[in-house]
Amino acid sequence: MPGDIISLFRARLSHEKGTAIKDWGGKVSVALAYPNHYRLGMSNLGFQVVYHLLNQRTDVVAERVFLPEGHEMSLLLQAGGSLISLESQRRLSKFDLIAFSLSFENDYPNILKILELGKIPLLSEQRPPGCPFVVAGGITTFLNPEPLSSFMDFFLLGEAESNLNQMLDHFSEYKGLYSDRKKIIRNLSQNVTGLYAPSLYQPEYNDDGTIKSFSPRESMVPAKIKVCRSACDQVQVSKITTPETEFGDRILIELGRGCGRSCRFCAAGFVYRPPRIHPKTDLMNAVQSALKTNTQLGLLASNVSDIPGIEAITAKIVENGGSFSVSSLRADTLTQAFLSHLAAAGQKTLAIAPEAGSDRLRRAINKHLTKEQIIDSIKLIASTEDFAIRLYFLIGLPTETNDDIEALVDLVKVIKHHMVKQSAPRGRIGQIRLSINCFVPKPFTPFQWFCLEDMRILKERQKRLKKELGKEGGVKVNFDVAKWAYIQALLSTGDRRVGSILLKAHSLKGDWTKALKFSEINPDFFVYRPRGIDETLPWDFVDNGIEKSHLAKEYRLSLEAKESEICHVGKCYRCGVCKKERIHYII
Ligand code: SF4
Repeated sequence: MPGDIISLFRARLSHEKGTAIKDWGGKVSVALAYPNHYRLGMSNLGFQVVYHLLNQRTDVVAERVFLPEGHEMSLLLQAGGSLISLESQRRLSKFDLIAFSLSFENDYPNILKILELGKIPLLSEQRPPGCPFVVAGGITTFLNPEPLSSFMDFFLLGEAESNLNQMLDHFSEYKGLYSDRKKIIRNLSQNVTGLYAPSLYQPEYNDDGTIKSFSPRESMVPAKIKVCRSACDQVQVSKITTPETEFGDRILIELGRGCGRSCRFCAAGFVYRPPRIHPKTDLMNAVQSALKTNTQLGLLASNVSDIPGIEAITAKIVENGGSFSVSSLRADTLTQAFLSHLAAAGQKTLAIAPEAGSDRLRRAINKHLTKEQIIDSIKLIASTEDFAIRLYFLIGLPTETNDDIEALVDLVKVIKHHMVKQSAPRGRIGQIRLSINCFVPKPFTPFQWFCLEDMRILKERQKRLKKELGKEGGVKVNFDVAKWAYIQALLSTGDRRVGSILLKAHSLKGDWTKALKFSEINPDFFVYRPRGIDETLPWDFVDNGIEKSHLAKEYRLSLEAKESEICHVGKCYRCGVCKKERIHYII
């Protein structure tokens, strides 16, 4: 292993606070892998929480692994060395488990890169005795694990706080008892809630390519895999800080998990149900304790401005000379006091998400946000401070027409007009930045039956928006790459046959155009085909607690551009989650 990489890793560790350096003797060793670069992995609170949960156990040692970038990657490739862990710089093959933490489908190609760099066989069936077990968890796995099923020995579905310990207890027991990998996997499947081993399940297909059946190969494993949820009785806070993250060395604090707004396109809003928000006193304690070591905090929630008592929390931070950043805001829950705290904390840009241009389309996606509310919030923001405003929009949403695109252009112009008017007394105006992304259908949402909008139409709409908004002074427009929306749709909603395309793209060094063109299966079948409402979907065997009939009802309401109620935890049993879980959640 080239000395330079070891020096680089040691320098990286020296910038961190809170790293767990543990002795390996007799412990289960876990390489916790983030399928992207260090900077992004360390900005992910979920990844940090899993690292902490693993290292809390006295019988486990967990070390981190990231995809190398730039100079680090060249050194590794030149030397032909194996990928190593950050903490003790051990090769991947030395670990008992390689555990991937997954948040984004577009990171899937990096899983194969990491395994190859670590000299681990890519396919589960090719791994010999003694090879580490490769496992994955994280939101994309409990939406639809199937596209990765050839590469993973097993998945752990659900929120890590709820079943990670159960898996480790059983793994450490079976590891000592059996040398046969299949026996260990089978025993884990039988005994760990939320553990899914793809090799123990058999899909069958109809002549038209849809799924005929999906069933266990053995009677002892469950037909449906139950996704575990955490009671969220502890406020999660990042334990490692380093300046090398997207947020600098801020301490990240999770204010709540999930969102009760029920936007129909949003996977997190459905699979992290019910919404769980920590009591104000617990959040105050977490903030006060964090402020003792770091004055810079990052507050995370689906909608930070929705958190009850948020003004008191941010006032406390400002009074203590601290600063904070926020993940995202709801336009209709902003208040003057909260905005003043954001200004005092030095926040320069506020992000809000109208998502669609017209009230009709916002009703179809169940956004519960009118044009009037958006304009009122813009007036409030612009009268408070010269914040730059980042506006998030989606194009290609189900039922979208050219009229909705025109309404998007009009909405941005009206927003700009009000920003100019409100800022006039100060003589300065904040910039407007638009992030316009392509809608990608996600499993376990009411939009799971829709397909991706045609690439040609997406590109035409991008072109039109660029032309009409590009000439507006003070407005900057950014688009995602439509080709990546296609790949994301394939990896989000495909079944296990899609794994062969992922493998082909990997063998072609990331040339997706060729991989899609020369694939033996037709990728358009997964991306452009609207799914039948009665069809067996690739993810139907995952039991997220949400009733399919509820999603279908929401799907039909979207076609009529009708909104439905938001979550009322404790009073509502509509989607099936609260009824089934019977957990006391704090609201
Ligand atoms: S049952 Fe009602 S309150 Fe509970 S998660 Fe579902 S929609 Fe929300």
